[in-house]
Amino acid sequence: MKPRAGTGSVTKSVTKKLYIKTYGCQMNVYDSERMADVLAPLGYGLSDNPDDADLVILNTCHIREKAAEKVYSDLGRLKPHQQRKAEDGGRMIIAVAGCVAQAEGDEIMARAPQVDMVFGPQTYHRLPEMISKTKRAVGEKVLDTDFPPEDKFDHLPEERVRKGEVTAFLTIQEGCDKFCTFCVVPYTRGAEYSRPAATVLQEAKRLVADGVREITLLGQNVNAYHGDGPDGREWGLGRLCRALAEIDGLARIRYTTSHPRDVDDDLIAAHGEIEKLMPYLHLPVQSGSDRILEAMNRKHTAAEYRHIVDRLRSARPDLALTSDFIVGYPGESDQDFADTLKLVTDIGYAGAFFFKYSERPGTPAASMREQVDDAVKSERLSTLQQLLDSQQEGFNASMVNRTLPVLLEKPGRHADQLVGRSPYLQPVHLDIPDSRHAAMIGTVIDCTITGLTGHSLFAVPVRDGQAGSDSTNSSNTVDSSNSGSPTPDSADRGQERISA
Ligand code: SAM
Ligand code: SF4
Repeated sequence: MKPRAGTGSVTKSVTKKLYIKTYGCQMNVYDSERMADVLAPLGYGLSDNPDDADLVILNTCHIREKAAEKVYSDLGRLKPHQQRKAEDGGRMIIAVAGCVAQAEGDEIMARAPQVDMVFGPQTYHRLPEMISKTKRAVGEKVLDTDFPPEDKFDHLPEERVRKGEVTAFLTIQEGCDKFCTFCVVPYTRGAEYSRPAATVLQEAKRLVADGVREITLLGQNVNAYHGDGPDGREWGLGRLCRALAEIDGLARIRYTTSHPRDVDDDLIAAHGEIEKLMPYLHLPVQSGSDRILEAMNRKHTAAEYRHIVDRLRSARPDLALTSDFIVGYPGESDQDFADTLKLVTDIGYAGAFFFKYSERPGTPAASMREQVDDAVKSERLSTLQQLLDSQQEGFNASMVNRTLPVLLEKPGRHADQLVGRSPYLQPVHLDIPDSRHAAMIGTVIDCTITGLTGHSLFAVPVRDGQAGSDSTNSSNTVDSSNSGSPTPDSADRGQERISA
């Protein structure tokens, strides 16, 4: 995934090409954009391909299987580009960033001599120093995998506005103290850290002043947020959302990814009270079996998860849910898997990410004896996928003939077409003459959904001539309890399934 090119003022004109390849989640997308912000004053402008780049950054993710192998094969592909650039008298600096860098820094340095810099997710504010160090002499390598994230946020430049973008990510929390037995995040991103609320509010106001209408708050465990409030108290996510909702011009608030354990009373109440908080929640459960949940160290039962969902739905009846699931965790029996299917059937999801369990070196589950056979994992994954797909299709189909508020984002692929997003992140296509686009992009209008193809909805404005009007506070007319199901917050914000 490519970071979006920024257009905010930079202190130096573009003289060098920067290519960033982003792997993984929204948090990495956000980090890549911030790296581009850090580098813009040095004259680096984003490029779409690595061919002739002066600096290539692979911003890696360690969550997926064979993550490191993918990075090494990308590094192999970069080698000829680097050599060609050197033959032409130039220099291509190659950097590996992100979670694979954090976990395997020394090994990358040893295995891939073409790499000049390796840095973790918490140190990219120091990129200018790293670059000047590595430029001083060919062969000078930089390895920077320190941890404290507060340092990073204190030193990052202001986020630059991305031209025409009406949606933005804003990282409010990083790291994780939960130590689920299958997961590398606590080892690669470090301990939980929440940014002060005043800083978050300031950044949000600046984004809104620059035309952003929807902000997605990011964190590995975003609802574990406990930032210092401007009133001297600690603020949870519910309190933060209330303050954000007061920003004039901000139409929509989302957050991801949440942990069921951190859904507190105030956050549930916030879902009932804040119209701007979208009724679409990614709440991973991983498994429906208490035995497996305990082995995973998730620290909640299936019944507790159901209870949280019930309370959220009571507070916000139009809420749709998405989740993450892992099949084939060590020791998962047929009965455990049946419990997962039962939970999915009972809850009804609008979408989901689902994965075959795969070992992450250094995590407790990797050394467990009862690893599940891969053929069994594949079969379970396919069964779960069929169920979740049918729920997602049902959810999407249930939108037809309903009225939904749609945030208009950009021109469609065809002439005289605008594309927006429903509250459930479904792309919504509208036939609107090109001449009205400029006035309409960034507004929220009520639309009647007339049909769907795949995951995309088609719609007509409820009131013709709504161009420029803003029905941000329009009532939500989708009923909730979704017998079908919503969609996942995928990295590119579409309705997508990822299986591994
Ligand atoms: N913090 C979030 C939570 O606790 O739900 C999850 C964040 S994790 C970056 C995203 C998802 O990757 C997890 O919810 C899990 O489903 C999946 N995942 C993580 N480690 C995995 C592993 N070893 N094998 C398979 N899937 C894994
Ligand atoms: Fe990983 Fe999420 Fe568990 Fe933290 S809570 S260890 S990020 S799965």
